[in-house]
Amino acid sequence: RHANKIKLDSVKGEQGRDKDKADRATSELVLDQRTRMILLKMIQRGVVSEVHGAISTGKEANVYGAVLEPEDGGRPIQRAIKIYKTAILVFKDRERYVTGEHRFKKGVNKSNNRDMVKQWAEKEFRNLKRLHSAAIACPEPIMLKSHVLVMEFLGDKRGYAYPRLRDANISEEGTENPWRSLYVQLLGIMRRLYKVCSLVHADLSEYNILYNDNQLYVIDVSQSVEHDHPRALEFLRMDIKNVGDFFRRKGVDTLPDRTIFDFITA
Ligand code: ADP
Ligand code: MN
Repeated sequence: RHANKIKLDSVKGEQGRDKDKADRATSELVLDQRTRMILLKMIQRGVVSEVHGAISTGKEANVYGAVLEPEDGGRPIQRAIKIYKTAILVFKDRERYVTGEHRFKKGVNKSNNRDMVKQWAEKEFRNLKRLHSAAIACPEPIMLKSHVLVMEFLGDKRGYAYPRLRDANISEEGTENPWRSLYVQLLGIMRRLYKVCSLVHADLSEYNILYNDNQLYVIDVSQSVEHDHPRALEFLRMDIKNVGDFFRRKGVDTLPDRTIFDFITA
């Protein structure tokens, strides 16, 4: 007994606040006819039962919460749906990730936005699969159709997404700085990403990591590159710098970037 409807009015923001009207308008903009059709098919196939409001509205994609009500009447399962935007301005700084990326299919028309967006979505889907197979905490990828990616929802049972590391409320009551162990955890993740997945995240920062209960989750891997990409090591240095800057601000006595670089690549 599926609730066969796409609910767009119950807009629940990251903090549970109702988003303002302008926000709502942008979040609905992305749902053109084609996108609605894809969502409808996913509903018919039982991938999700209901699509809720935007968890996040970004430059390149919106992320929506969704729920699957199992046929057998079991507990509802939360999902997240990332829908890439096909708007034109968005791809300007994407070129540097594509150039030298051998996984980018030949024959893809780089001046065709829809083609490009599909490529980004596919890249994210495949990268998530790799992370998931390597047991790196991330949303499990569930289904990809064109520019619509369904994945595991990282959040609590009430439907609230886990906070980004940037917004995480971490108790600092003990004598040890609690950020230190998260720093160490993240270095391990970066190494595993490089060594086991052969990937460099290439946009790693406190904005693309979710936090819950001492666990870090890597998200937003559409721009991640193979470690043999001509600029992979440059991107890795950037990631290392961002991570170091953040944890230093949290009072962690960080290792030199050079040392981390060697630890990850050695
Ligand atoms: P963008 O390209 O807009 O930065 P992200 O993949 O970083 O897209 O997702 C944007 C935001 O959506 C994240 O900061 C997070 O709050 C939320 N989000 C993304 N994926 C999930 C997920 N699987 N579960 C819960 N929240 C998610
Ligand atoms: Mn992001």
